[in-house]
Amino acid sequence: MQEMSYSDLNIQKSSTQNRIVDAHVHVWTPDFESYPLAEGVKEEDLWRPSFTPNQHYIYSKSVGNVRFNLVQMIWYGTDHSYILDLISSDPETFAGTGIIELSDSNPSKRMLELYKRGCHAFREPTDSWDHPTMHALFSTGGDNNLALSFNMGVDKLPGLEKMSAKYPDTPIIIDHVCHVGIGNPNYSEIEIEPLLRFSKHKNAKVKIGPFQGLGKRKAPYFDILPLIKRIVEAYGPERCMWESDSGGPIWMNDPETEYPAAIGLIRDHADFLRQEDKDHILFKTAEKIFFRK
Ligand SMILES: [Zn+2]
Repeated sequence: MQEMSYSDLNIQKSSTQNRIVDAHVHVWTPDFESYPLAEGVKEEDLWRPSFTPNQHYIYSKSVGNVRFNLVQMIWYGTDHSYILDLISSDPETFAGTGIIELSDSNPSKRMLELYKRGCHAFREPTDSWDHPTMHALFSTGGDNNLALSFNMGVDKLPGLEKMSAKYPDTPIIIDHVCHVGIGNPNYSEIEIEPLLRFSKHKNAKVKIGPFQGLGKRKAPYFDILPLIKRIVEAYGPERCMWESDSGGPIWMNDPETEYPAAIGLIRDHADFLRQEDKDHILFKTAEKIFFRK
């Protein structure tokens, strides 16, 4: 398959204003020669043969020229070449979330290197809070306004709580609503309470999504509005951002319908939000983190 470059698609890029930011997308290319898979990863391990920005565009184009926070895909290990090349090809459209391994010999230096090339956040493990690398990343993140991003359930919040108390300036991003409503559509108060309470950390932000994995997992997704409402009430819209987790493990069955439906849920059906709140959730919050100059 010959891959077109994103710019070949003739997408209107004249304005960055009011472009939706998809705050969590994973991409990988079938061009394994230019972008080899990490050691031990085989082609048949991939969830799909490829998931490129073009494949995203096919189903997202109806809502305009979406901007992406590209979360480094595990198949590439610590080799960020694919997302870094995309970012340098079009920094108005692409930004990145990198991964720094605990074993990295100079994690702070690596963080700043990746930052210079367009990574404004870093996704890190949630079982090693006391590791020296974690302390280095929290410290450097706080000094340079670089976020640490965590994919975890609420049971891990106490560990993050300690780090956030020690490094109050470090921006924190909680991915996938801390899994509340993902495994269990009928989540209990015991599950959601710690997430709502964590909002007392003023530097903590929440990614709201993926809607195809939340609640009943069915467009038009009205059943998840109460969950969204509670999170936005706790954190405020300027600390919430929408994400599709496109390329992630939970695929949409019919993305051409479901992707616009996810945006439509916020834009057209979240009656508890004002227009400016919706703007924060759909682009402003993520823009401030991932596309700040
Ligand atoms: Zn993901």
